[in-house]
Amino acid sequence: MISIRVPTREVDLDTYRRRVFETIRRYRLVEIRDVIYVAVSGGKDSCAALALLKEYIEEYRIDAEVRAFHINLGFRTSAKIEEAVRTLAEALGVGIHVVYARDYLDIEAAARATGRPICSVCGAVKRYLMNKVPRELGATKVATGHHAYDFLTYYIKNLVGRNHLWNFKILPRVEGGGLLVTKIRPLIFARPEENEEYCRRRGLPVSAVCCEYGLCGAAHAEVYEMLAAARRRDPDFDLKLIGGVVDFNMKFGRAEVEQLHKCKICGEPASGEICAVCKLRAAVAKSLAKDSQSLREAGRR
Ligand code: SF4
Ligand code: ZN
Repeated sequence: MISIRVPTREVDLDTYRRRVFETIRRYRLVEIRDVIYVAVSGGKDSCAALALLKEYIEEYRIDAEVRAFHINLGFRTSAKIEEAVRTLAEALGVGIHVVYARDYLDIEAAARATGRPICSVCGAVKRYLMNKVPRELGATKVATGHHAYDFLTYYIKNLVGRNHLWNFKILPRVEGGGLLVTKIRPLIFARPEENEEYCRRRGLPVSAVCCEYGLCGAAHAEVYEMLAAARRRDPDFDLKLIGGVVDFNMKFGRAEVEQLHKCKICGEPASGEICAVCKLRAAVAKSLAKDSQSLREAGRR
């Protein structure tokens, strides 16, 4: 796993916790009778998101429930990661639901069949399952552990790539509707090192094993370096920047809801007639058919 560290100052966990709780309160991330599924990957960020949402619900005695949701990606390291997530859920006393990506798509085979980077295929499958499965389980919201630096990286890349409309999605709460479940991001104003320190001090069992492809952090390097340099002059530059992005989106961002259709094959939301996962499935099937035809032809020779 590529690990990019932001030069850390002393982490003030009280301030961090207050900031996360204020995010939850201000943007109504937890409401009465909510059933919130937190997508837990086993890493520190989603682990912190799960624990803090549970703390918030308990502290304010809200009639709501938080549960863990984990996707076993079907890679070599996935069984160990699943075990760590199960241990975390047990330690926190929350329910857990595990879904196996292979029941829907073999991610590695799809990456080979399409020539797409594995992280791109993996991302498409995760987005699909993180909406479909919790919705079928009765979720009112799905939470993720994305933090300020994830969003700032996304923001800068979209700015440079001129994908301006995508940046309107940088919000603490993205409303669902129809087949889409509302997404919440309680850690949008948190730094990665704060999540790490919170998990460490609470003794939460974060997975020691990462996905073997470990490329998630690679694309973040330049942005992390830029932010680290800016923080040498102003230690809160990063939080001010993400605060400004969210403020702008709340004031001026029209909810540019993509025109979604129902996938003609599986019925899930899709931007075209067929959803991304069904297209990937078709590519795998085509590649398998081609392989077996080549084998048959080789046998005839
Ligand atoms: Fe998926 Fe890539 Fe992250 Fe592994 S590193 S979990 S393949 S996105
Ligand atoms: Zn589909």
